[in-house]
Amino acid sequence: MKSILFDVLHNVTLLMAGFYLLGKLSPLPITRESPRMTRVYYGLALSVISLLLMQMTIEAAPGVMVDLRHIPVIVAAYFGGAIPTTIVTIAIIIYRFSLGTNLAAFTAFGFIVAVALGTSLIVREMPPYAKRTFTLVTIYATALHALVLWIVLPKQILLLEVMSVVVPASFVSSWLALLIIRDIRLTKQSLRMLHQKAQLDFLTGLNNSRAFNEYFTDVKQRLILNKQSVVLLTIDIDHFKHVNDTYGHESGDEVLRQFASRLRDGVAESGYLSRNGGEEFSVLFEGIPLTEVLPLAEQLRERIATSPFRLATTDLSLTASFGIAAYDETTYQIELLLPDADAALYQAKQQGRNQVVLFSPNAESAVSFQE
Ligand code: GH3
Ligand code: MG
Ligand code: MG
Repeated sequence: MKSILFDVLHNVTLLMAGFYLLGKLSPLPITRESPRMTRVYYGLALSVISLLLMQMTIEAAPGVMVDLRHIPVIVAAYFGGAIPTTIVTIAIIIYRFSLGTNLAAFTAFGFIVAVALGTSLIVREMPPYAKRTFTLVTIYATALHALVLWIVLPKQILLLEVMSVVVPASFVSSWLALLIIRDIRLTKQSLRMLHQKAQLDFLTGLNNSRAFNEYFTDVKQRLILNKQSVVLLTIDIDHFKHVNDTYGHESGDEVLRQFASRLRDGVAESGYLSRNGGEEFSVLFEGIPLTEVLPLAEQLRERIATSPFRLATTDLSLTASFGIAAYDETTYQIELLLPDADAALYQAKQQGRNQVVLFSPNAESAVSFQE
């Protein structure tokens, strides 16, 4: 009795450590929609855990192996879908038959297949993260496990002895496994969500300056491998302080939201749009030539200048100034792209606002762009 208890405890320990490590290996939770190869690796990793469990098997009676190998199958069916489930199931069956072909092996075969199919069915019909779903899966698998033990074990005192340890262990470890994995997955999802939220500007929903910096760092990394055009457009609303002073901060916020929405419509998917602070925005274009960005900037400028912003009390006409720097037409060092675009924007303000200015490396001042 004591020896069986310790053997089962070893099984449980291996399972928990295995699932914990497995959870740490992949940055994203594995689902039925994960890439096919990810699901294959998941199936292989779960197979390793199952086969290790079978190394720590308890030979309850001659030729009868008792262990928790079916729990990785439950996990595969529960979280990963058909591909990992098939892989673990086949791995277990092949290994089991390689040990000997007898009634116990055939029963084990039926048991594993029934666990795989039943779990898949339950998960398809019920909400995956609800506790009642994994409680039901656990009850189902434990009942099957008890049935199998009843079939294969000699009907003597041994049956009760093994059952009284293995059945509770089977129930507890399957339930704990699902709980631990669900916990790791929910933590991963929350972290992802927080990361995404931390990248967004609260007022406009655009990328914030932190996201812009990260993206710009990625662009610079990609530039090392693949030389391509990178164009930065900086945008600043003209006399925005006046909007706040005249109509109040709330109206200023509303203008910022509408301004962001116009930029979003105008830029669409072609560039990385951010609110870099206050009433300053930027668009980073990667792999798009300057000759395409210049007319786009001019269109944006015109659309802002010609159609008024709608406030609750009045319609408001506004303009914005634009600065552009392009790697490597105007700027030979990517690190200077931001200061050069800012210099061009400053120039646009100096020259009377409501214009697009392209940074000029040679001239004393940047040059105004006219379509
Ligand atoms: P310029 O044409 O030279 O750009 O003049 P400006 O008034 O637009 O520029 P300035 O930098 O003097 O003023 C920017 C103003 O933007 C000041 C600040 O109160 C306002 N502002 C910054 N962030 C927000 C915000 O989130 N909401 C609102 N309503 N106003 C903001
Ligand atoms: Mg301004
Ligand atoms: Mg400003």
